[in-house]
Amino acid sequence: METGLWVEHAQAIWNVLPVHPPPQPLESMTSYITRLAEANGLQSIHELGALAGGIRLKNLKSPDYPAPVSPGLARLASVPTARWLDMTFFHLVHRFGRSMHPVALHKFLAGSIAPALRYCPLCLTEHTPASYSLLWRFLVLPGCSEHAVHFLDQCGHCGSPLALLRCIPQLTTCPTCQGDLRSGVPSPLESSVLAPTTKYTNDLKMLLTPGPRSLAKDQAELVGKRFQFLRLQRGLLIPEVASLMGRETSVVLHIDLVRKVKQACLDDYMRYADILGYSLCEIFDETALQDLLVPASEAQLLEQVEQAIHHLKARGKPLLPGNIGNLIGLIGRRGPQYPRVNKLLTRNETEREQELLDSKLEEELVKLVEQTLKQGEARGETIVLQDVCDLVGLTYEWMVKKYPRIKALFHAYQQNRSRRRRAPNVDEEEKGQQIQAAINVLLSGGEPVTLKRILHIVKLTYYQLRTSPRVKALLAQYAEKRPGGTS
Ligand SMILES: [Zn+2]
Ligand SMILES: [Zn+2]
Repeated sequence: METGLWVEHAQAIWNVLPVHPPPQPLESMTSYITRLAEANGLQSIHELGALAGGIRLKNLKSPDYPAPVSPGLARLASVPTARWLDMTFFHLVHRFGRSMHPVALHKFLAGSIAPALRYCPLCLTEHTPASYSLLWRFLVLPGCSEHAVHFLDQCGHCGSPLALLRCIPQLTTCPTCQGDLRSGVPSPLESSVLAPTTKYTNDLKMLLTPGPRSLAKDQAELVGKRFQFLRLQRGLLIPEVASLMGRETSVVLHIDLVRKVKQACLDDYMRYADILGYSLCEIFDETALQDLLVPASEAQLLEQVEQAIHHLKARGKPLLPGNIGNLIGLIGRRGPQYPRVNKLLTRNETEREQELLDSKLEEELVKLVEQTLKQGEARGETIVLQDVCDLVGLTYEWMVKKYPRIKALFHAYQQNRSRRRRAPNVDEEEKGQQIQAAINVLLSGGEPVTLKRILHIVKLTYYQLRTSPRVKALLAQYAEKRPGGTS
C-alpha cells in the first residue's frame, strides 16, 4: 500500500509541473508555453520541451497553427488536449470548413497572420495574469479595441523585433535590453479605424471560439451558400464582387460554390463580407446557417429567381441565364429536380433567344469576355474559360457556335497561354486534384468529359495534361463510361 502511494507521489512530481496556471481566454499557445515555463522558474523553453518528453518547442514551425499538442506537454500542464486547440487558430479554420493540412492552412491564412509578436502594452499591464491574445496576430486589426491604441510590434525601449516564442521564458521582458514590455507607449488609433477595429475584433473573437453547433460535414459549402444568399439580397453579380475585391472571379466562385479550382483565403472572405456590408458575426449567425442546412424548396428558389430578375431589371442588366443563376447560386448547372424553376429560366431564355442573337448583344458579350480575359492577363493570372462561360451563363458549345468572334477570342487566348510561358512544374498529385475537380464540374453540368473541355477548366497547359500518366488514367476511366456520348 505504502509503495503504491510512493509511486503515485513520484509520478505526480515528474508528470505535472508544480505551478500550472489555466490558460486565459483567447490566450495563444506560444504565450501559454512561455508563461508556464516562467511560472515554474525554468531557465529556457528547451527545459520545458525536455520535461515534456524531448519535444523541440523553439522549433515550432508555425506557432499557434492548429496541430495536436504533445501528450507530454498536456500532462505537464494538466490541461486537457482539447483545450490546447483553443489556443490555436483551430476553431476559425474549422468554422470555414477548411482543411487542417499544413499546406492548406498556410494558403488559407496567407497574408492574414503576423509572423512576429504584436501586443497591447496596456492589456499586458491591466490584465492579470498577463498573456498574449490570439487576436493580436491578425493583421486586419491595427490595434486594441479595448484601449483604442495601435499594437506595438517591437520593444518600446530598444526597438528590437520580438519573436513569438523566445528561448528565455520571460513573458513581458525584452530579451535584448531587458526592458519591461508593459511600459511601452502605444499611439492612439485614428477615429476612422475605431469602428472597423471593433467589428473585426468581435468577428475574430467569435471565429476563434468553439461554436455552439457541431459543424456540418460540408461546412464550407454551407458558408458559401450563406454568402451567396446575402449577395442575392444585395443584387450583386459575381464579377461585380470580384472587381470590388480586386480579385479573380474564380475566387468568388470558390467561396460561393466551393470549387476546388481556385481556393479563397481568409482575407478574401473578410473582404467579401465587407462588400456585402455584413460582419462575419452576422454571416455566421447560427439560426441563419441552420436554415440553410435544409435544401431550398422549389417555391423558395422560384422566389429567388423572381428576386434576381427584379434586381437585374432595376439595374438595366441583361437577363442572361447566367446573370440569374449567378444571383441564385445555380451556376453552370441546372437543377433538374426543379422543373418549375427550369421553366421560368427557359421562358426567359426563349424571350431572350432573339435578343441574344442581336448584334448589339453580341457586342456586349464580346466586350465582357474580352474584359475578363484582359483583366486576368494584366494581373498575370490564368483565366479559366469555363468560369467565363459560367458568368455569362451560356454553355461553351453555345457560345462558340453562335458567336464566331467569341470563339476566336477563346482560341487566341488559349494559344497565347500555352505559348507565353513555359509550363511550371506541377506535381502529379496537384494535377490529379485539378483534373478530378474539372471532371466533377463537367459531370454536374451533364457535359462530356473530354481533354479539350478539361483544358478550359484547369490551370494547366495542354502539354502538362498530355504528359501526365495520372491524367491519362483518369480520362480513360471516363471515356469507358461514355459509350454513346453524354448522359
Ligand atoms: Zn489593450
Ligand atoms: Zn528592448
